[in-house]
Amino acid sequence: MAGPKRNFQIFDPLDFLAEVTQHIPEKGDHQIRYYGWYSNKNRGQRAKAQPAVAVAEPQESGAKPLAPGGKQARKRWAALIKQVYEADPLACPKCGSEMRIIAFIERRQTEVVEKILRHCGLWEEAPARDPPPVPEPAVG
Ligand SMILES: [Zn+2]
Repeated sequence: MAGPKRNFQIFDPLDFLAEVTQHIPEKGDHQIRYYGWYSNKNRGQRAKAQPAVAVAEPQESGAKPLAPGGKQARKRWAALIKQVYEADPLACPKCGSEMRIIAFIERRQTEVVEKILRHCGLWEEAPARDPPPVPEPAVG
């Protein structure tokens, strides 16, 4: 392969900006491309091989509007994940049976997370940190 045998290039500032900005995509450009297992071709072939499983569930529950937290909403959520990632989020990793959702925990509910992890014996107390150093007052 011809070309400079180095891993750097020195530019004038404007030349550098010109080189960098030519890689900024146009507004609306298609930027996400799926290859291999997640490509449309592969997903289509897998869907044809086993037609009813992943496709039927979202359609049957998608007909009516769903109340948040309802049983249908839970099924729809799981069906959408199953359709996109082709993995059942409600399947128990140990025995394979269907797991039930007992609660949704949001990021702000740190006390709930701590309570659950303490109950499961998984809570680890983080060592206390020193306070940040006090900056020296500027002399001037
Ligand atoms: Zn299980």
